[in-house]
Amino acid sequence: MLPLMATKMVDQRACGYAQMLAPQASEVLHYFRLWCDIQQMEFVSEWGRYLMQIDRRRVIAGLGATALCGGPTALFARTSLQLGSSEVISLSDGNLVLPAEFFFQGLPEGELDLILSRHNVPRDQLEPPCNLTLLRQEGRIVLFDAGSGPAFMPSAGKLLSSLEAEGLTPEDITHVVFTHAHPDHLWGILDDFDDPIFPDAQLMMGQGEWDYWTDPNTVDTIGEARASFAVGAARRLAAIEDQISFFNDGTEILPGVMAHATHGHTPGHMSFEIRDGSSAVMVGGDAIGNEHVAFDRPDWASGADQDADLGAKTRMRLLDQLATDDIALLGFHLPHGGLGRVERSGDAYRFVPEDV
Ligand SMILES: [Zn+2]
Repeated sequence: MLPLMATKMVDQRACGYAQMLAPQASEVLHYFRLWCDIQQMEFVSEWGRYLMQIDRRRVIAGLGATALCGGPTALFARTSLQLGSSEVISLSDGNLVLPAEFFFQGLPEGELDLILSRHNVPRDQLEPPCNLTLLRQEGRIVLFDAGSGPAFMPSAGKLLSSLEAEGLTPEDITHVVFTHAHPDHLWGILDDFDDPIFPDAQLMMGQGEWDYWTDPNTVDTIGEARASFAVGAARRLAAIEDQISFFNDGTEILPGVMAHATHGHTPGHMSFEIRDGSSAVMVGGDAIGNEHVAFDRPDWASGADQDADLGAKTRMRLLDQLATDDIALLGFHLPHGGLGRVERSGDAYRFVPEDV
């Protein structure tokens, strides 16, 4: 449990955050879930459960209707790569909407403006895509990250539609592997009723990432801007505790899938090298967070990274490795489905999407 004072502070911050995000549907459930986050509730009353069971069908029916009426669908053409007998596919979870200052505060204005105009990036607001990775292998279907789910932003949480377009249901997923526990990567693990979305899947997370977000001190040390992330992660990780296993840097977590420590964006952030012979794809999570500043000036500190200095070191090392070893990249927030190559460009790099 959180100390009472801390709980109240988080309460105020989270409510302000929720107002900013303006949920588009199921508002009552949204605020109820937020309230559960804040209060660190360990149970929901039988009456609440009953009401939610009734509502479940209505919500699911509503979602179906949205899809039928031409609601939000995948934002890009299907992007995939064949690796021997395995297929690596990019799945859209929608996009985020964030103030540009979140990323760019404190960077040298002149050079920043040049980079952004070169990439046609607006200066006020960014709308980065969210690309999950699906690995189809003989005998298993592996999802890397779970997306935002219904509670983070109206523009995100579209994974189930993308899975459906792929001919899959959540029950088909055998493994879910997390790069890190930020909301747009973890919160999709639970549905509107706080039940696991992938009940039959084995869940996997880096040991360091798990330890950080389940540490009760994290909400006090992470800083005001991300306190709601800490509360939300702790509650979701508690809900999947019995379903999850852990790994460390250098572990082959599944046949042909190697975990690499890429810390900095979060303290235990992990990337995953999927390899078949001489061909490989790196599931990079948020270690390389965009196609503009992260490639043109990977050495610059990013406001998106919790440890900005370590994040920059990791980014430079990873870009060098991907370009030198000719490993494809599937970046969570990169354009065109996030799947492409890293090429050197003078002292910097550029992202060359697979489908362009
Ligand atoms: Zn992210």
